[in-house]
Amino acid sequence: MAAKHRVIPIFIPQKACPFRCAYCNQFAIAGQDHILSPEEVDGIIQQHLATIPEGSHIRIAFFGGSFTGMSIEEQNQYLDVAYPYVQNGKVEGIQLSTRPDYITPDILENLQRHGVSLIELGAQSLDDEVLQAAHRGHTVQQVQEASSMIRQHDFELGLQMMIGLPGDTRAKALSTAQLIADFGATCTRIYPTLVVPHTRLANDYAEGRYKPLALEEAVDWCKDLYLFFQEKDITVLRMGLHPSEGLLSGSGYLAGPFHVSFKELVMSAIWHDRIMEQLHGEPLAEAIITVPAGEINYAVGYGGANKKRFPNVSFLIEK
Ligand code: SF4
Repeated sequence: MAAKHRVIPIFIPQKACPFRCAYCNQFAIAGQDHILSPEEVDGIIQQHLATIPEGSHIRIAFFGGSFTGMSIEEQNQYLDVAYPYVQNGKVEGIQLSTRPDYITPDILENLQRHGVSLIELGAQSLDDEVLQAAHRGHTVQQVQEASSMIRQHDFELGLQMMIGLPGDTRAKALSTAQLIADFGATCTRIYPTLVVPHTRLANDYAEGRYKPLALEEAVDWCKDLYLFFQEKDITVLRMGLHPSEGLLSGSGYLAGPFHVSFKELVMSAIWHDRIMEQLHGEPLAEAIITVPAGEINYAVGYGGANKKRFPNVSFLIEK
């Protein structure tokens, strides 16, 4: 069996962000009340390594803030904890997420010297009006320039996107996906926008100026985006926010398309359409549908939804 990919997540909420984007309150979402010190980071890495099976492909991931917004000295305090694990072969690399306007050649050269292999930029939308409404503080052109610099320095590039930000539309989300491909990303994450307490978006929501996507809408948009990225060979690392303590308890968001199994909903919907196509639009028709082993749960559908919708379909696992 192929070795599994594992990520050791180090969450540094809003660290080094120049301000808060309109929708963001990482502390509320994560239910984490402080920023980890480099010493705490080492403890987390060791705890994870103790439980990850040998032979796994492991990466240490710094996310939740703007890593490269820290001074080089502060970045190195964290990297100096993580890099020895790359050097001694216990992990394969380090990845981090940051803002597109915090990328310079000096920053990239320092990251190269410290075992970082993947840089994910929060692009969120590649439409300037949406970026402005979300108070992101950067433009599409800055994402393009940072992406190009990252690729020139031989890092793997990830571009994360959000859907349903103020002013976003399905067409804008699809053109964002197209630009993510054009800018050379090899991976992405798709996050539906949630209304999180103590944010500008929460005020706009309370005053009726912002309406989040409904869950069905978000699933529908993601379906198209996922298929697009699949066709472009861009790995979708995540769809939907991680069901953190804050989100599960309900204290971390006020409204919006959160679902604990968001990806499963999207994949079920994709399989729904595939099956419907094979049945030529006749849900009660009989058929045997061949499914790759890893996708059987998606084909049967979340909560058996596709099994119920297509009662005369049998699923055969591909050999
Ligand atoms: S840059 Fe990212 S982490 Fe920082 S405030 Fe904006 S969305 Fe939140």
